[in-house]
Amino acid sequence: MTNPEVYIQCLVFIIGALLGSFANVVIYRYPKGESVVTPRSHCYSCKKTIPFYFNIPILSWLILLGRCFFCKSKISIRYFLVEVLMATFFVIAYQKFGLSISFYEALIFIFGLVTISMIDFDHYIIPDLFSLSGIVIGVIGALINPDRSVIDSLLGLFIGGGFLYLTAYIFYLIRKQMGMGGGDIKLIAWVGAVLGLVSIPFVIIVSCFLGSIVGVLLMLKSGEGRNQKLAFGPYISLAALIYLIWGENLVSIYVNWFLKAA
Ligand SMILES: [Zn+2]
Repeated sequence: MTNPEVYIQCLVFIIGALLGSFANVVIYRYPKGESVVTPRSHCYSCKKTIPFYFNIPILSWLILLGRCFFCKSKISIRYFLVEVLMATFFVIAYQKFGLSISFYEALIFIFGLVTISMIDFDHYIIPDLFSLSGIVIGVIGALINPDRSVIDSLLGLFIGGGFLYLTAYIFYLIRKQMGMGGGDIKLIAWVGAVLGLVSIPFVIIVSCFLGSIVGVLLMLKSGEGRNQKLAFGPYISLAALIYLIWGENLVSIYVNWFLKAA
């Protein structure tokens, strides 16, 4: 007899991979204003429709070695990575929350963040459809979920969003240019609505840290200097996902360390 947990985790992984595959469609088509339902997936090189047996998340990319079955043109590894990433985060969320309301909330949050991160990477935009519905779903979640507080959700939403808005405004007064987009402000408000007020300092500090490391590396690589554009959404998203899963532990490690040092 195998532990039924194993089957549940496999199922969660498969659902994550399928939603990762759907996220790939959204990431590619939504910014172009195309339907995410029709037409069926096709090769971007030879335009042939991909038969369902070559459209299996994760596996198809591996079996076809990242190439179109018909014309052998390369299929970006990103499709594969998004599916693996989504599936892995889904399983980690299950391990943390079990089959609770927090788990279903986490799935929506993960799906949204992975999707907007990739859109932000490609187009330097975070569509309002995602951030604004994320905020609404986040507040409704806090109303339904006994493990979350609505006050905390609203404080996270307004103080998180407000803090970033103020930072962007001051930056604008000093440099006369926008340092941070409105999309990033709405994204932090979304994160605050889902993760609560305490998450905000963590998410801002960690995302700035991650973003500046990658920013410096990109600058060194391209030699374009500091005017190079950097999508900030993916770092906010990554920091938010780290907080979602390990946040409480990380914050308590930090507080303990701080108390010992004092
Ligand atoms: Zn092809």
